[in-house]
Amino acid sequence: MTSEKAGTYMAERVRGFGETIFSEMTALALKHRAVNLGQGYPDFPAPDFVKEAAWKAIARDENQYTRSAGHPQLVEAIALLWQRDWGCSPDPLTEITVTVGATEGLFAAVQALVNPGDDVLIIEPFYDAYPADVIMAGGTPRFVPLRPGEDGEWYLDLEEVRRAITPRTRMLILNTPHNPTGKVFSREELEGLAAIAQEYDLIVLSDEVYDYLTFDGRRHWRIATLPGMWERTLTLGSAGKMFGVTGWKIGWVVGSAALNLAVRKAHQWIPFCVATPLQVAVAIALQEASAQGYLETMRVAFERKRDILVQALAEAGMRPLATHGTYFVLARIDPLGWEDDVAFCRWLTTTVGVAAIPPTAFYSEDHKAMGRRMARFAFCKRDEALQEAARRLREGLRSRTRA
Ligand code: PMP
Ligand code: GLN
Repeated sequence: MTSEKAGTYMAERVRGFGETIFSEMTALALKHRAVNLGQGYPDFPAPDFVKEAAWKAIARDENQYTRSAGHPQLVEAIALLWQRDWGCSPDPLTEITVTVGATEGLFAAVQALVNPGDDVLIIEPFYDAYPADVIMAGGTPRFVPLRPGEDGEWYLDLEEVRRAITPRTRMLILNTPHNPTGKVFSREELEGLAAIAQEYDLIVLSDEVYDYLTFDGRRHWRIATLPGMWERTLTLGSAGKMFGVTGWKIGWVVGSAALNLAVRKAHQWIPFCVATPLQVAVAIALQEASAQGYLETMRVAFERKRDILVQALAEAGMRPLATHGTYFVLARIDPLGWEDDVAFCRWLTTTVGVAAIPPTAFYSEDHKAMGRRMARFAFCKRDEALQEAARRLREGLRSRTRA
């Protein structure tokens, strides 16, 4: 089918979408053999115990459809993790739904809880799936930007959040630790958002896929565990992030039975259920991770990688902003004389040989200017890749900054 013809068949709800920035920049990185610090996925092997878990699951012949809401062994393991680390005991059978990555969790939750014509609050810069999910549900995204302070930290003005609320506002999508800024919302900030959610009767969809990746002694708080929030919050998690296996696409949604019931009504028609052997594998891996203290080991390893990358960016003449969580860092590019993130990231990928993501992809039309003087770099990469990127940046940027 020609693309022209495809255009005539295309439904309204997808017509405005382009290719995701992650696919676009990874294709460009491959073409130019760039070190890919763009799309956020680890370039190193998964831990042996994680791969062994998958072999065990296959050997058990766990090959057929499983329970739509999630394999009993996995929901049990997720409930145990919540109990151990977050002081909260979701019921495995009614309060946890396993989804095709957090990505399907987001889609199913928005489909299940947002009516056409509803408004959904999205904090900018945003993970790019959020506005797309809201649009596909017939809702309207309303954007509130994080603003950088003099201290290089990011701040959310709660008065701005209040001003963005309309009588049709139904949901707030929150992300902490936050991609792409690396902001970890403090308990006080979450209490402020919780008060607003309760005052305006909003559902909070809290994307916490980087919950185990916080640095500098920052603590991750779950908004769902604050007073009055359990019944109105859905929390998203991802095995892809916990175990560095983004291609497994195993995620979950945790929240009250009433909210999960809604999610399941959508989820049963999306994948029905998620890859059974990989669900069992994640259940086994979660047990093994607890026994080995793996999540803390991973956190420490990523904190060190963060330091390597931040130093490399600074040495290359950029101004990295503070990042206390996730595996991303935003860096100011204007000290190099660049004011256009898209042109810079393309030039960096094709000429210097280091791929990065232009942050304007994470801003609405009205606020794109806020992202123009930055680039996002991922540090979930082998030390050798980070060092090679550092070398290319040092050499490429010193000699070729924009006239
Ligand atoms: N939310 C955020 C903030 C992310 O960075 C990602 C990573 N791709 C996702 C959701 C999607 O998670 P998953 O790979 O489990 O679908
Ligand atoms: N979450 C990853 C990132 O932010 C990319 C996910 C994707 O490619 N869809 O880089």
